[in-house]
Amino acid sequence: MDSNSIYQKSREEVLEVGEKYNLAEEKLEEFLEPDRVLEVKIPIKIDNELVNFRGFRSQHNNNLGPYKGGLRFHQNVNKDEVMALSLWMSLKCAVAGLPFGGGKGGIAVDPKQLSEKELESLSREYVRRVYEILGPQKDVPAPDVNTNPKIIDWMVDEYIKLNKNGEYKTNELYATFTGKSKKGLAGRTEATGFGGVAVLKRIAEKLKLDPQNTTIAIMGFGNVGYYFADFASKAGFKVVAVSDSKGGIIKRDAKGNFIPLDIPLVYDCKMEKGSLNGCYCAGGVCDMRGGQMITNEELLQLPVDILVPAALENVITENNMQNIKAKIIVEMANGPVTPKASHYLIKRGVFITPDILANSGGVAASYIEWEQNLKGKTYKKEDVLKRLEKMMKEAFENVWNTAEKENTNLPEASYLVALKRILK
Ligand code: GLU
Repeated sequence: MDSNSIYQKSREEVLEVGEKYNLAEEKLEEFLEPDRVLEVKIPIKIDNELVNFRGFRSQHNNNLGPYKGGLRFHQNVNKDEVMALSLWMSLKCAVAGLPFGGGKGGIAVDPKQLSEKELESLSREYVRRVYEILGPQKDVPAPDVNTNPKIIDWMVDEYIKLNKNGEYKTNELYATFTGKSKKGLAGRTEATGFGGVAVLKRIAEKLKLDPQNTTIAIMGFGNVGYYFADFASKAGFKVVAVSDSKGGIIKRDAKGNFIPLDIPLVYDCKMEKGSLNGCYCAGGVCDMRGGQMITNEELLQLPVDILVPAALENVITENNMQNIKAKIIVEMANGPVTPKASHYLIKRGVFITPDILANSGGVAASYIEWEQNLKGKTYKKEDVLKRLEKMMKEAFENVWNTAEKENTNLPEASYLVALKRILK
């Protein structure tokens, strides 16, 4: 086994659970291998020169329905990573009880280095290169790291242009992508964060935590981290640290206690300055008093009640697991805790809510969007969020009850729920 392969590691992880619970080994082995991984060249013009990027789409498994999952634009995207991410999507859709399989794709690119025009060319060219394998009942992409509704809109537009022989009707063309702005779903943008907080509220209920006395540190202030922070503070939790890729912020009172951050103000400040540096906002004002910049590594090690990694994978590893002080981890990124670190922390009594449960609000909302498009309807935001809250609650209760029944932790129970549904 390639020890650096994140796909191999997650495969091993699932196999272990399969073995423990006597799940048909042959069927499981077959499931774990992605059905198809497409790798394509994406040539675009930059300053009059042709530059070739690499694009991927891993279609992992479609036992439960069309392949479903995001597209990420990041310099670290590679075949191994999309394979792992697509496996997690298969498991995630199953845990969420959705009629979807798993897929994931992306382009190896640092989008911050491209102009808007170049980004548009890249997005459109990607669709031209993978067109054949997409479709409302085949494979339905969505946003992921560094991709957003605007990028998805370009992709849909390109997809519509390619449908020359009229294979699909207009509503089906829109149903081929979720996370769009045009004909998109009201509430989809905030859905992952919203769903995560729906889970957080269930955890607080089960573990008898008082939100007013519960401190949270969140790594990542993109779409997922920001909305999680916002909904969590609105639900009364004390969000005391947030960070982006450049670092994070905390604020303390004279006694050294954490002061909860004012998330909307922190957001406005970051938008204005381009970074979180100096955005020490609390109680309606931003000032320097008690403010401190911290590194992402320091954020992970803060003495808070709940730690929420909401950026990229592999941030809690064998190198820093001993220093984690939080008693609860809510995985809002995909794969933020490595299997080894996860086992270690669980043994130490840390309560981990796995990604495939905690961040499934995004794909659950994508399901509602897909349904909306196929039915030719437009759903209201309040109805969407109500339905989403109910879906998250059901997914959580199911995993919780399985964990109680099997006398195990939530990560293992989530795998068990997912695998039973997929292998049936
Ligand atoms: N990229 C998100 C995820 O990792 C959403 C996927 C989707 O909506 O298809 O779950």
